[in-house]
Amino acid sequence: MGGSGDVEQVGTVIVGGGQAGLAVGYELARRELPFLILDANERVGDVWRNRWDSLRLFTAAGYDGLPGMRFPASRYSFPTKDEMADYLEAYAGRFQLPVRTGVAVDGLSRDGGRYVLTAGDRRFEADRVVVATGAHHIPRVPAFANELDPGIVQVHSADYRNPSQLREGGVLVVGAGNSGAELALEASRGHRTWLSGPHPGHIPVRHGPAAARFFFPVVRFVGHRVLTMDTPVGRKVLPKLRARGAPLIRIKPKEIAAAGIERVPRVVGVRDGLPLLEDQRVLQVANVAWCTGFHDDYSWIDLPVFGEDGQPVHWRGVVADEPGLYFVGLEFTYAFSSVVINGVGRDASHIARHIASPGRNGRPATPRPAGTRRPEAAERVRSGAAGS
Ligand SMILES: Cc1cc2nc3c(=O)[nH]c(=O)nc-3n(C[C@H](O)[C@H](O)[C@H](O)COP(=O)(O)OP(=O)(O)OC[C@H]3O[C@@H](n4cnc5c(N)ncnc54)[C@H](O)[C@@H]3O)c2cc1C
Repeated sequence: MGGSGDVEQVGTVIVGGGQAGLAVGYELARRELPFLILDANERVGDVWRNRWDSLRLFTAAGYDGLPGMRFPASRYSFPTKDEMADYLEAYAGRFQLPVRTGVAVDGLSRDGGRYVLTAGDRRFEADRVVVATGAHHIPRVPAFANELDPGIVQVHSADYRNPSQLREGGVLVVGAGNSGAELALEASRGHRTWLSGPHPGHIPVRHGPAAARFFFPVVRFVGHRVLTMDTPVGRKVLPKLRARGAPLIRIKPKEIAAAGIERVPRVVGVRDGLPLLEDQRVLQVANVAWCTGFHDDYSWIDLPVFGEDGQPVHWRGVVADEPGLYFVGLEFTYAFSSVVINGVGRDASHIARHIASPGRNGRPATPRPAGTRRPEAAERVRSGAAGS
């Protein structure tokens, strides 16, 4: 890396210093390749620190380590979100990964042969860029949320920390996936609680140390080795999983029922300032917790690399149309496991290998010819035509 006026010249810029960006950094450092990680947050691990207070990982510590450093806890215990945050910070420190925090990249484009990144008035030029900004960007809330009575407290799961944010009275949790089920259980201890939306199914095994010992290895094998873009079953199942969302991992439907939480259909609008359900019922609630997921935000990337669905077109994170551009940490970058801590290392290693093997023109090689069938397969998956 070298300076030139106000522009920093870097071999590879990794945008995002969460688990995905750090794992790529580790793999590049191992290969002695120059790179810089830019992260918008003040501290490594802040994404985890900023999640709700009672959150524990659903994956056991034995599955929470990144390449080169195990998670420092009993293999079958479940770390808190702050322990995970501290682990990431320690990881960056241990391998002396060059992370520059407090730098929010707001532009990525190409100028001739180089990538140009901007962050306010700062400018970086790089041969390669790895986008590792996470799969959860902008909280998704329906437009009609604005029409709810201003007296109703509204909070998205991204901003929820603990029940002290709720006011007295009923709580409607919208979205019955993992976040919704966990928030509803917590809210139900002090409030009458409704949980809206279709049940995504659940893993029929009691979550805990025994599951971590005997069941997780099976889940890991299936998520990491079987459900990949390289297997027919993976290409068939992954788009369906993306559309449906993950099944409940920790919480079982019977716990939801035992807590007195009432399951209700989707919220479809607002009537007289109150949430209106699909069955035309109106709920008299004082709080609405939106557990409705996130939109991606790639508005800062000015490169023609996105498909009709707004997702980057890539194969295993390698963007063939923009040599030197990579994505990591996306849902199903390569496999069901790509978005979890234990799976991201393999994707990171694949990208680092690609960066380390420049093509004849000095740029990184595009996917090898044998892979040309594969991007098409990926394209079929993205368009939802897989398995048809
Ligand atoms: C509630 C919840 C619980 C989860 N529990 C588990 C679990 O138990 N086990 C598991 O394996 N997985 C879990 N996951 C999934 C996954 O491990 C996490 O979402 C993880 O945080 C993803 O890591 P990441 O590095 O891909 O993205 P992130 O952690 O989101 O990190 C992205 C980083 O990029 C930075 N960034 C974003 N945009 C920019 C920009 N423009 N410029 C500079 N920096 C930028 C952010 O500041 C951030 O630090 C959970 C996810 C959620 C939402």
